[in-house]
Parts: sequence; C-alpha cells; structure tokens
Amino acid sequence: MKKKLKLQSIILLTGFMLISCLPAIGQIDVDYSENKKNDFNATNKKEPISSELTVPNLGKKKQGSVHEMITIKRLSKRVLLVRSGDMDMVAAIKTKKGIVIVDSGFSPTLTAKYRKIIEKIFGRSDIKFVINTHFDSDHVNGNQVFKGAEIIAHQNALEWKEEGDNVKVDIKTWVKSTRERIKRRKFLIKTLKNDSSLLYSRLRDWIYTREKVCDDFETIYKLALPSLTFTDKLTLDMGDLKIDLFYFGPGFHTDNDILVSIPEENIVFTGDILNPRYQYIPVNSKSDIEPWIDCLNKIIKSNREIKSVVAYHVGVLPGRALYEFHNSLKNMRDEQQQKKSAVDSLRSMISEFGIQKAAKIFENQYLINKNKEYFIWEGDLISFAREFQEKKQYNEAIIILKMCEKIFPNSVSVFNRLAYTFKKAGKKKLAIEAYKKALCLNPGGFYVDYIRQLESRE
Ligand SMILES: [Zn+2]
Repeated sequence: MKKKLKLQSIILLTGFMLISCLPAIGQIDVDYSENKKNDFNATNKKEPISSELTVPNLGKKKQGSVHEMITIKRLSKRVLLVRSGDMDMVAAIKTKKGIVIVDSGFSPTLTAKYRKIIEKIFGRSDIKFVINTHFDSDHVNGNQVFKGAEIIAHQNALEWKEEGDNVKVDIKTWVKSTRERIKRRKFLIKTLKNDSSLLYSRLRDWIYTREKVCDDFETIYKLALPSLTFTDKLTLDMGDLKIDLFYFGPGFHTDNDILVSIPEENIVFTGDILNPRYQYIPVNSKSDIEPWIDCLNKIIKSNREIKSVVAYHVGVLPGRALYEFHNSLKNMRDEQQQKKSAVDSLRSMISEFGIQKAAKIFENQYLINKNKEYFIWEGDLISFAREFQEKKQYNEAIIILKMCEKIFPNSVSVFNRLAYTFKKAGKKKLAIEAYKKALCLNPGGFYVDYIRQLESRE
C-alpha cells in the first residue's frame, strides 16, 4: 500500500505533464477568459501591484542559462511567485516573523536560484517555514535548500519516512526513463518549425526542468522530510498576517493535499487540487466528496473575498475559480444523493446482457432518451474503462470510451485514454488517430511525441 503510494507519486510526476494540459470538461465549463492561454503572466492585469519584475542580476548570464527561464510575479507587496515552465514554482510570503515558502519546487538547483531571487527582492533571508501542499517530488525536492526552516506538511506525508531505499529505486527508474524521453523530445523540438507555438515552449520548458531534476537526482538530491505535521487545520501566526493550512481530504489527488489560505491577502494556494483543465476527472460515483466541500467551506468562510488562486501547474487564477469548484462539488454531491449512477447501472447491465447489448441499452437510455434520473460523469466512465483496461480487456474498455466520446466530445482525457488503450490493444492506426484528435483539442500537449513513437514502430 505504502509502496504503491510512492510509486504513484513518481508516476504522477511522469503523468502530470499530460494531465496538466487537459481542458475543462464535464460538469462545468470553466473558461477564465483572461488567462485562457494558460499564461502565467496573463492574470490580474487590472491590479497595478501585480507587476512583472526583471530577474535580478545574479552573476553571469549566458545564452540558455537558467536566468532566462525564470519568471517572477509579484502578486502583492508581500507575495512573490518564482517559476520556470509549468512544472516548477516556489511562492514566498514576506511576514513580520520571517519568510514563508509554499512548495519548494522540483529541482534543488533551480530552487537555490529562486531562493537567491526571493532574498534579493525581499532584502532579507530569514526563511522561517516551508509548506509542502503535498508530498509529490515536484513540490518537495527543493526542501533541502531551506536548511533551518521548519518544513510543514500533512501528517500522511510522513509515510514517506518509512519508504527508505524504495525512494532511491524509484528515482533510478524515473531518471532512466526521463533521460530517454528527454533525448526523444530534444530531437522532436528540433523538427518543430514554429518556435513561437505553445507546444514548442512547453517542450522547451519540460526538457529544461527535467534535465535539471535528473542531474539533481544523480548528484545533490536529498529528501528533506517534514518537521511539523498536522491533521485537520493549522494556523501560523506570523505577526502581521495569519496563514491557514487546511487538509483537503483523500481521494482527489493524493492522501495528503493541503490548501493554504492567507485571508489578509485574499489569496489561496491550491497545490495540485485546482486545475480547470482536468478538474473533475478524479471524481467518480464512489468518491467521498463531503470532506472536500468541508475544506472549501472553511476557506470560503474565513476569507472575506478570495481574489487570487495560485494553482501550481496552471498559474494564477481569479478567485472565482475556487468558488465555482466549490459549487460544482456541491452539485455533484447532491447528484450522488438524489440520482442514480449511470455507470453503476451500466455495470449491472454488462453482467446481465454482455457488453455489446449493454452498451446499446445504455446509449438508448442515457444518450438518446436523456434519462434524468441518472447522472453521468466523465471521470466515472473513464475510471470504469480503466478497470477493463487493467484486466487487459481492451475491447470492453474501448466500447466504454467510445460511449464517453459521444457524451464528452471535447474531452482530451477521453481521446488520450482511448489512444493509450488502442496502443495497448495493438491497434496502432486507431491509436494515432485518437492522439491526433487529442492534439487538435490541446495543441500544447505532447501527443506528437507519442504519434512519432508509434509511427516509428514496425
Ligand atoms: Zn504537482
């Protein structure tokens, strides 16, 4: 179980670049028009305080050097975000009692650079706390850079302590496969004609940060565990402001995600919980949604008005992103209580009539006649298809995903999963076709890489 958790974390790292670029789908259309382009610097243009800064001069600056990749955003007088690509970010909050860091980044080498920038801008170096929103590598690897600071995480993050050497084994495997990917993607980026495309910049950022992480894992990396943990809520009184840490609950992303709220600043840090591009994929008919709603209730109650949400892999979202997420979860919880799950009904129809007939009845009932007594969630259908896929029952998985495609025709998640299942089933052409559809829906996705890999196979 624990080993599974660890492996899952490493898999999450490799999978996240895929997941992180999936579009909004399912129960609510999320369209934050001002940051539609997923541009880190595009938000809060109305607020004069949120200005871009030039990277302070930290010594030699050569072509392609780390300094050129770093973006700095000053969210308020006291809150600073330092980031490279959409894989890596460190937030810093200046308080009377010291600087508080939220998430420490993927690569210790990069985080050390961020630290210098933060210290230079704030004109001080007293880092008091490092908060890890959860214990995935891309949020905790930089902990080692903040020696002497208290590292805070949810209690479940302590399970890492017992993993011991497993971490090293997983890391070795991760580095090996990541280096292979880097090689492949370096070749791919050379063949891209349009270097102003989203795909180009995402690939460039991906290669850049991943290379750093691989190098760090092989040399200086040392896991720094939390020194202070909590279970439900923790408040840090920093003199001039309070920082509230709330446990989000299990079953959504990891078992140790926390949300960080600063009511005085109207800012909430959501770690990997809020990502409008794939927001409701983790939710299925069996999910225990109540704890997530509870957590958001507490945050909304303790803030007069949330103005900005810092979502780690997305950037800065307007506060309404959190309110909408809260409302959607409440609607889904209500549906769970008041309606029947279409997937549950499909499950029993399959055992009674077999998949072909069940699929026809299902389509008739829910697609053509739009039976309102049932709820159909994308995440629910996808996780049902996954069950078949894991048992190597690819045809069944494909039938379900094809139904899902009819209900959610603009879902990158569906096409991505479909492509993967076709690939597993040895249906190369269909897999390529599905990846192409995913690419049309999400031009910044790395599907070209998978398409070329498939095309090069015999
Ligand atoms: Zn992450």
